[in-house]
Amino acid sequence: MKALVLSSGGLDSTTCLALAIEKFGKENVIALSVFYGQKHDKELQAAKKVAEYYGVVHKSLDLAEIFKDSDCSLLQGSSQEIPEESYDEQLKKTDGKPVSTYVPFRNGLFLSCAASIALSNGCDVIYYGAHSDDAAGSAYPDCSDEFNKAMNEAIYLGSGKELHIEAPFVLLTKVDVVRIGTKLKVPYELTWSCYEGGDKPCGKCGTCIDRRKAFELNGLVDPLEV
Ligand SMILES: [Zn+2]
Repeated sequence: MKALVLSSGGLDSTTCLALAIEKFGKENVIALSVFYGQKHDKELQAAKKVAEYYGVVHKSLDLAEIFKDSDCSLLQGSSQEIPEESYDEQLKKTDGKPVSTYVPFRNGLFLSCAASIALSNGCDVIYYGAHSDDAAGSAYPDCSDEFNKAMNEAIYLGSGKELHIEAPFVLLTKVDVVRIGTKLKVPYELTWSCYEGGDKPCGKCGTCIDRRKAFELNGLVDPLEV
């Protein structure tokens, strides 16, 4: 068995990468990172360091062109600031719609690209780190269990039943992800989750707030905050 792992350089996807490496061995894992026009490239640099740390093959892809008309607040062309509040606070104002940092159909696109690359490289499975906190309240609908099941079926059928998706955290929370990753000794000091591109995490964006809470509830301190 050989796995392709969507590796953004963040906490969730790096934990997912560690799980795949534990299961299949580093020689049977390919990490794939996608640039999609973010305001900074901190995550991509982190993904590169993580791949070097684990000694896995690392591929990267530039899909920024696809998102050039989007006003998602993470992207270079956006007129919006990145919100400095928790997802719960943000969702109170979105009227059931995704948050402003939702990148249009990002996971659908990434998984489709990953499927083509996986088939071309003899992989049997795609791993990605979607979890239930991101799907909650439809903040990121392309992280939900329903979405994952639908994409899995599409990829399985469209690949001639050669390829499927594993989203090991899709029913779990970020607190669970950190618990699992800590057991696997994931080098969280190499990862980057913050939506801002500073030297240290901003501590104020939705993903910083979630990340800090996930470490705290495990009785740990994020190594990036030490
Ligand atoms: Zn932040």
